[in-house]
Amino acid sequence: MVDRKGFIHIIDELSHSLRALADSGIQRGDCSAASLDAMDSWGKACSRPAAGESLADIRTDLGECTRCTLSRSRTRIVFGQGHPHARLMFVGEGPGQEEDLAGEPFVGAAGQLLTRIIEAIKLRREEVYIANVVKCRPPGNRLPEPLEIATCSPFLRRQIATIRPLFICTLGACAAQTLLGTPEPISRLRGRFFEYEGIRVLPTFHPAYLLRNPEKKREVWEDMKVLMKEFPYEGR
Ligand code: URA
Repeated sequence: MVDRKGFIHIIDELSHSLRALADSGIQRGDCSAASLDAMDSWGKACSRPAAGESLADIRTDLGECTRCTLSRSRTRIVFGQGHPHARLMFVGEGPGQEEDLAGEPFVGAAGQLLTRIIEAIKLRREEVYIANVVKCRPPGNRLPEPLEIATCSPFLRRQIATIRPLFICTLGACAAQTLLGTPEPISRLRGRFFEYEGIRVLPTFHPAYLLRNPEKKREVWEDMKVLMKEFPYEGR
């Protein structure tokens, strides 16, 4: 028998789960087995941060995750990397082939470009924190699906809540749309500040997109200048 407190907890979890589905773009009820499995797993992976949890606690909770089907094809989970109290966090979409093999974010060609972007804004990779919306490689580098994002992004949200960066720079449409809960295209979001849980969020293009469209680097540099103007370098 569930008491009143237990019932309120169930409703709270359910509303949280439904909100996560809505945030990831699902507009109608979805009672497929895959959705129900994913929602089951959210009960175990509470998406609200526990007070005082560390990145190591979140990693432990993630475990050898099989909460979504990306786990079947991944080599390694790419949890995230960097300074545990970074003032600036970068959030990408999901690991690519090299990240999947290395277990570290942004180590391939796009990662090397990201490192150059970080250095161009007078920071070092070790000073920032880098994570992705999904922690396992989508096969063939396809876009993560809404259910995969809804299943995995609670861990990203917990990482953000633990690190409490001053700024988050989202890389590409997936990260911006997931954190800001909007379907707006990245071309319209980039280069201005938004807010996520009291943290200033600056969307910009994804470095992989820049590798395919080098003429867009100029716009990313403009975005980085917007960030640099506000970034508290003197307090380092
Ligand atoms: N692209 C991403 O979005 N993330 C990575 O870690 C690597 C490439």
